[in-house]
Amino acid sequence: MNEKNFQLNIANIFPPSLWSFRNQEIVYQDLKRFTYLEFYDRVRRLSSALLKIGVKKGDKVAVLDWDTNHYMESYFSVPMIGAVLHTVNIRYPPEIIFYTMQHAADKFVIVRDEFLPMIERSAQLFDFVKGWIIYSDEKGEIRTSLENHYNYDEMLESSEPIDPPDIDENTPATIFYTSGTTGLPKGVTFTHRKLVLHAQALAVGLSYSPLNINEKDVFMGLVPMFHVHSWGVPYLTIMTGHKYVLPGRYDVKRILELIKKEHVTFSHMVPSILYMILTHPEVEDYASYLKGWKVVIGGAALPRGLAKMAEKFGIITVGAYGMSETCPLLTAATFTEEINSLSKEERFDYMISTGRPAVLVNLRVVDSIGKDVPWDSRTIGEIIVRAPWLTDEYYLDPEKTEELWRDGWLHTGDLAVVDSKGFIHIVDREKDAIKSGGEFIPSLVLENIISEIPEVGEVAVVGKKDEKWGERPIAFITLKNKVSKEYIIERLMKFVETGRIQKWWIPDDIIFMDNLPKTSTNKIDKKELKKML
Ligand code: ADP
Repeated sequence: MNEKNFQLNIANIFPPSLWSFRNQEIVYQDLKRFTYLEFYDRVRRLSSALLKIGVKKGDKVAVLDWDTNHYMESYFSVPMIGAVLHTVNIRYPPEIIFYTMQHAADKFVIVRDEFLPMIERSAQLFDFVKGWIIYSDEKGEIRTSLENHYNYDEMLESSEPIDPPDIDENTPATIFYTSGTTGLPKGVTFTHRKLVLHAQALAVGLSYSPLNINEKDVFMGLVPMFHVHSWGVPYLTIMTGHKYVLPGRYDVKRILELIKKEHVTFSHMVPSILYMILTHPEVEDYASYLKGWKVVIGGAALPRGLAKMAEKFGIITVGAYGMSETCPLLTAATFTEEINSLSKEERFDYMISTGRPAVLVNLRVVDSIGKDVPWDSRTIGEIIVRAPWLTDEYYLDPEKTEELWRDGWLHTGDLAVVDSKGFIHIVDREKDAIKSGGEFIPSLVLENIISEIPEVGEVAVVGKKDEKWGERPIAFITLKNKVSKEYIIERLMKFVETGRIQKWWIPDDIIFMDNLPKTSTNKIDKKELKKML
């Protein structure tokens, strides 16, 4: 390799960061706390230990864990030696966990003791795994019937930190599987270069964001580390030198405690997690610590009702958009002077929208013949993208890859309109779109409006087959305060009168539920709701 050709690899994130932020902290619950210098030492020891047990370039090293310091270490240690980190979705059913690990052909697995029984039950099936690297939050010996196992922390202690090799930036660094909203999960992979450029784009995005992130901010990610690299925020954090708090398995009371104790000021998550936090029975006791909390919501639309609920606590919410296939960042609210000079209420609508393309994201919204839609807030098209950090393929699936990448553009399957200022508003997913009497009912727009009814908690609108109309919308709703179906319809009629929705969009039925079903990444599971219908 030409040494003047600087490689955008994961190891190269560290030198400037350690120069300026060496005493900054990484905190795991109230159990562990490391400075960046100590963290980097552990990262290099783990790299060295992995090499010692035979991990080779290109080998897949899986992790089964909640959000812990061990996980964060593996984010760096594994790719830094040219191996590929497989972040296994532990909220999948065991057979799907197995499917993804077999499909990726994981050679080594880093696993928290909690997940050992699940593996041990079918150990003989994992014949492709050469070694298990286990650890526990508890002190003492970890018992397992698995052969070829190593103790993570002992390995670290007995290894010397290595000088990371200069890995070619186009080397694959990570693999993980999409949530599988339709069919079996599909693998997506990202190289060092993609992850580094993506982290930089996040940093640039934050500088344009209405959140005013500064050096005092303390980050705590609430997107699981198994899901799209927790949106790349752990990599971003090391770059920008912020304190990072790892909450382990998500438990709302513990999250609230960590916000209080560690002075967390910035988090990112899907809407349902924010909803869970704000409806926790003890949330009022933490109100003073939530004031000013800066929250990026993505992975699903940020409902206006939820953003308003957060606003009452003094929480600032901002929308962002992306998908597993795109690393994930595609768009976020970027505030230019034009937007900053608007009234507070107008700004609010831009904050919760899907936003505008992030740096280097070439994005188009195109109609069925591939023509860009006008910026008129009305014409619906599909979002297609090009950017430096998109997955090249679905792993070992050329057929699905061909559907994803057409004419050099990645097709998101998301339907959107663009307003006069270039802000994107996703109105539906192609596969969830409700077609009624040959016309389209945008379910996200309808959900957004229903979320504004004060008694409504969470809402999802899905299409039900209908002999006359093809499909008709049905709303599934959880309530904060009990009201009747007639009351909801009456409120929706008011929105019809003010022209925000059309009369024929009003759902044919409203089904009240205690909880809406969620996917493994905590999004409302429309597939499950459709099955119920
Ligand atoms: P899954 O398909 O299981 O939800 P992803 O996490 O990759 O897996 O989800 C990506 C999808 O989530 C996008 O294609 C889009 O439909 C939806 N999404 C993400 N962010 C937003 C947003 N801000 N507004 C509306 N939809 C969003």
